[in-house]
Amino acid sequence: MALDPYRLPTTVTPAHYELAIAPDLKTCRFEGTTAITVTVHQPVREIVLNAVELDLHSAVLTDASGSHQEATITLDEDLERATLTFPAALATGEGHLTITSTGTINDRLRGFYRSTFIDGDGVERVIATTQFESTDARRAFPCWDEPEHKATFRVSLLVPTGLLGLSNTSAVEERPTEGGTWVEFDTTMKMSTYLVAFVVGPLVTTDPVDVDGVPLRVACVPGRERLSAFALEIGAHALRFLADYFAIPYPSDKLDLVALPDFAFGAMENLGCVTFRETALLVDPDHAARIELERVADVVAHEIAHMWFGDLVTMKWWNGIWLNEAFATFMELTTVHAFRPEWERWVSFSTERAVAMVTDGLASTRPIEYEVVSPDDAEGMFDVLTYQKGGAVLRMLETYLGAAHFRDGIRLYLDRHRYGNTETTDLWDAIEDACGEPVRAIMDSWIFQGGHPVVSVSSSERGVVLKQQRFRYTPDPADADQLWQIPALLRRVSGQHGRVLLSGTSTTVGLSGEGPAVVNAGGWGVYRTRYASALFADLLAHLDDLDALERFNLLSDTWAEVLAGQVGVDGFLDLVMLLGRERDPSVWEVALDGLGACYRALPDPSGLSEWVRELIRPVFDSLGWVPAPDEPDSVARLRGLLAQALGTIAEDDKVQVQARALHAEGTAPPDLLAAVVTIIAWTGDTEDYDMFWSKIRGATTPQDEVRYLFRLPTFPSADLLLRTLDASLDGIRAQNGAFIIASSLGHRSAGPTAWGWLTQHWDDTLLRLPDNSRGRMLEGIVRLTSPEMVETVTSFLETHPLANARKQVAQLTERQRVNAAFVARHAGALAARF
Ligand SMILES: [Zn+2]
Repeated sequence: MALDPYRLPTTVTPAHYELAIAPDLKTCRFEGTTAITVTVHQPVREIVLNAVELDLHSAVLTDASGSHQEATITLDEDLERATLTFPAALATGEGHLTITSTGTINDRLRGFYRSTFIDGDGVERVIATTQFESTDARRAFPCWDEPEHKATFRVSLLVPTGLLGLSNTSAVEERPTEGGTWVEFDTTMKMSTYLVAFVVGPLVTTDPVDVDGVPLRVACVPGRERLSAFALEIGAHALRFLADYFAIPYPSDKLDLVALPDFAFGAMENLGCVTFRETALLVDPDHAARIELERVADVVAHEIAHMWFGDLVTMKWWNGIWLNEAFATFMELTTVHAFRPEWERWVSFSTERAVAMVTDGLASTRPIEYEVVSPDDAEGMFDVLTYQKGGAVLRMLETYLGAAHFRDGIRLYLDRHRYGNTETTDLWDAIEDACGEPVRAIMDSWIFQGGHPVVSVSSSERGVVLKQQRFRYTPDPADADQLWQIPALLRRVSGQHGRVLLSGTSTTVGLSGEGPAVVNAGGWGVYRTRYASALFADLLAHLDDLDALERFNLLSDTWAEVLAGQVGVDGFLDLVMLLGRERDPSVWEVALDGLGACYRALPDPSGLSEWVRELIRPVFDSLGWVPAPDEPDSVARLRGLLAQALGTIAEDDKVQVQARALHAEGTAPPDLLAAVVTIIAWTGDTEDYDMFWSKIRGATTPQDEVRYLFRLPTFPSADLLLRTLDASLDGIRAQNGAFIIASSLGHRSAGPTAWGWLTQHWDDTLLRLPDNSRGRMLEGIVRLTSPEMVETVTSFLETHPLANARKQVAQLTERQRVNAAFVARHAGALAARF
């Protein structure tokens, strides 16, 4: 019988690891000794475990009687495995396996890797740090690198003199040695290998904040401690809020939040030693936009939620990664909502959910949970369907069941499975046990099939008639049989509420009261709504009676119907014209998103620019340039959003002049700064471009740096765009390259030039950018909508497949075709109207 190439045999399993890691930051090499307490279940002669890019020098097993056997070692680099073959069969029972190894501290932002920065004296300094999820612990030490093989870990690090060493738990012993100190950290709880972390480098920490007995610190490069207060504030809030929500104490003895100059993801939930990219942790609250603070609050809350959901209770295998991430996304929003209710974070999440629903309306979408076989498959799971659609589906369930029932189910689940591993259905069973509703059946229909429904609404004498079918941008008769169990909330605009589980094709709901019915009341259902035309007209007459999220859905669903060819573009534009009294930024964001697509569809968009200007200018003028001292947060966000639209696609020269004046004076309020920088780039010349680079190099906060950096692809000149693209390979950190390339591909006129550049620099780009960012790098192709570009891009990507981003590439090329069809279908109508 052939061995499963991706699942280790379970004849020998680990219980406890003692890791001793000695990094040399000058040569970027490290030595490791891995001593593993194992259980030998069968008298085998072989132990198979994961290792890759490591030189394994010796492997010795000592059994319970004290006798030793040394193994011969073979490595299979493709399968990322080491096979240890012993001279004689191993005695069953407990054994101690000791493996010595050496490896390289790599530049690939995975495994044990190096991050660098220039210190205050202009000297380059090196930090050695880890990123193990999903399957990269095996690049640092030989191990059973599968989430189900939980064990305890005791890490020791050789920390050179003058540097700091961090790991998952508190340091318990320090032994000075030549050139440094061996620092030994306490034994962790039982957990998966992907959650182990160690960091050695010239970092500093803040004084610990005591959060009900848990010391909480921020670690960062020297000089940035001044940017840590906000992270500590949300961190302390999250620790308390989540321990209370889950009714389980924080599962480790300390918590360090570590900001790293080079980081492939946003952050990583290593138990007790969470690592972040700097923009997600370090911020100056006095000079940051609300949205920048929100990003820090979101990510810190998300990672701390993982300490319980993910770290304490873990998926059995990588197919369960969606639940890990969807739930952390759900808890992040719940936690941040409790932290700053005035941010209305659940409302602004609608724009993130909308992004997921765009992908989910494609033929090439996938079920939220799908089969994961190889490490490449696991990497493909970190996408909008896992995080945003998954989080939105959980929110839909919570609003249908009620928050208390939902929370009781979560508590039951975590309590039942602490220190263990689970399948998705274990969660549904626990919630079902807590509330008595058919949660498993409902959720199976949302988790195990791709896509989402559109609910058609009409009225009959008996009430409101609901019919479901799959929503697709490219309708397909083969979808006819696909049904969801839709937990639908309804109401009359006058206030009467109804609730129904729509599990068949259609149902009729009696709903008393006056006024039009709102289906998807509150706006939390992950489905689209298609009202019969008379009902739709009636609703539009009651726009002021709808919640922000309900208005958001009207616009979002209408725009989706335009892309699907079900509604003419005039239907969307007429709806946008009704937004004169609208003050919710998320509703405006979805409107501007559609207007941006119309702008790009027109060879000469000047007529549309004028129309947008006339539409937005009165709304913007009602807000003014200067924030009122007591205005709601949403007004500040809306001001930035509208200023940016006016200064870019609306080509409002007054706004463009004022933006430059505010920038020159240095008086733009934080919430306007991003818009101001974007407007300058939109109209910028070479001198502005050079100014941006000096701002990037002189930035004193991570937000300042990316505010200018990420707008480099907005400059109109194709020559400047090529300079920006060259910098993505040399001149900016690899972690930011994908964002720059994606924006360049989406450039308003020179996207094809960017595509040409990418195809010429394909190999270099893949070599330099972190592996996990390949899908993201291609996101801009959805804006390359000419028939020639559709053909060119598709054929190139067919001959240059990306193993770990196959699904994303299929989705992006399909979106490109959907957008191209929109242009082909509506460019004429748009040109006639404008
Ligand atoms: Zn996460």
